[in-house]
Amino acid sequence: MDSLGNLESLKGHTILVVEDNDFQRSVALQVLQSLGIKDIHQAADGLQALKVLEQFGKVDVVICDLDMPGMDGIQFLGELAKNKLAGAVIVASAMEASLIRTVEDLVQEHGLKLLGTLAKPLAKKKLQDLLGRFTDLETEESTSFPQDAKAPWTVKELDDALSRKEFTLYHQPKVSMATGELEATEVLCRWQHPEHGLVMPDSFIPLMEESGQIEALTEQVIEKALVALCDFKTKGMTTKIGINLSAITLNDTSMPDRLFKQLSALKLSPELLMLEITESSLIDQPAKSLETLARLKMKGFMLSIDDFGTGYSSMKQLNRIPFSELKIDRSFVDGASEDKTRKAIIDANIGLAHTLGMRVVAEGVEQVADWHLLNELGCDIVQGYFVARPMPISELSDWLSDWQQRFEQLNDSQQSACE
Ligand code: C2E
Ligand code: CA
Ligand code: CA
Repeated sequence: MDSLGNLESLKGHTILVVEDNDFQRSVALQVLQSLGIKDIHQAADGLQALKVLEQFGKVDVVICDLDMPGMDGIQFLGELAKNKLAGAVIVASAMEASLIRTVEDLVQEHGLKLLGTLAKPLAKKKLQDLLGRFTDLETEESTSFPQDAKAPWTVKELDDALSRKEFTLYHQPKVSMATGELEATEVLCRWQHPEHGLVMPDSFIPLMEESGQIEALTEQVIEKALVALCDFKTKGMTTKIGINLSAITLNDTSMPDRLFKQLSALKLSPELLMLEITESSLIDQPAKSLETLARLKMKGFMLSIDDFGTGYSSMKQLNRIPFSELKIDRSFVDGASEDKTRKAIIDANIGLAHTLGMRVVAEGVEQVADWHLLNELGCDIVQGYFVARPMPISELSDWLSDWQQRFEQLNDSQQSACE
């Protein structure tokens, strides 16, 4: 949605500002009013905020300070989560970045949706962007079903979906930072549900892993990915495809041979397929998965270590498995331009990967400032909403021409900033 559209849909939302400082609170109220938001509540500490919520009911977004007398922001957020009193939270604080980060984790641990953090006094543009994320979330939730339920589907429903081939692939571009070229797309599975519309993978992949259906799904994903690779090849594109492999798939040591044969039959080189493996998934069954990975590598497939930095043994995995690509998890990437620790982590990971001869992908890039930072730090490839959201393959060519223009402007703005 464009920013004007976002602004329109923002106006109908209810916001609660929790801030002890009168001046900061009145700045926040003014900024919200200037965005056209009418339904605004305020409170000077957590206790007062809970009373407001008791009186008026759940609000869409809470903008919350951390350091307040009485009930502080940290305690308040706990209460907010327990009673599900807000759709999402924005943390506004003058505290140092490392504390804010801890609170960010805490908010997410509580199961609250965090739209982001803001410095004070609140700046209109930043606040508008963060509130825009809320309307994005709402749109996603209304078009994808269901979000929170842990096990919303039965095994039978998933079986039917498999036999009716209702799973489809969305492609998310991975672009070169140096040239802007479309290096690859990552294919992300969606379930085109006959009643509920587009269903996101987090609601069915874990279930299918448990039920043993994931292998059948992976087969369908691979089949579709290979068709897409053929399509790229016919169009003269050298774009690779990344697919996500569950750890369970790696238990099958004959998989590399089968996959190799499938590609050979289509005269496709195995280098065109990037197999993304989550590092945490490797911890459980090391022996067989190591064998499969070694065989995949031997056959010429590319291996990518996904969500890097989020597992407990990242370094160990790097030491054992010949990965060609390292994907820095989006929790380190988003907002890195304003965060010393995240920046240092990215910097160190890029250095490590390059020393080991690997290419680095930053995932979850949403903001232009983070793009520029990654460029400075020497990151190779970027993936994230800033470049493109996952899309049906039919939309790729329109996106590409639009992206090429945006990339040129990006380069121009970087150059003029350096002059
Ligand atoms: P993943 O492999 O880490 O994929 C990246 C996820 O981050 C995708 O979510 C993508 O839509 C989302 N994303 C990309 N850029 C941004 C951004 O800038 N901001 C934010 N907030 N999110 C971004 P999605 O499509 O919901 O997939 C979730 C997970 O489901 C994937 O995480 C992957 O682990 C799993 N998955 C998806 N398709 C398959 C599949 O075919 N097989 C298996 N085994 N797992 C799959
Ligand atoms: Ca992935
Ligand atoms: Ca990832």
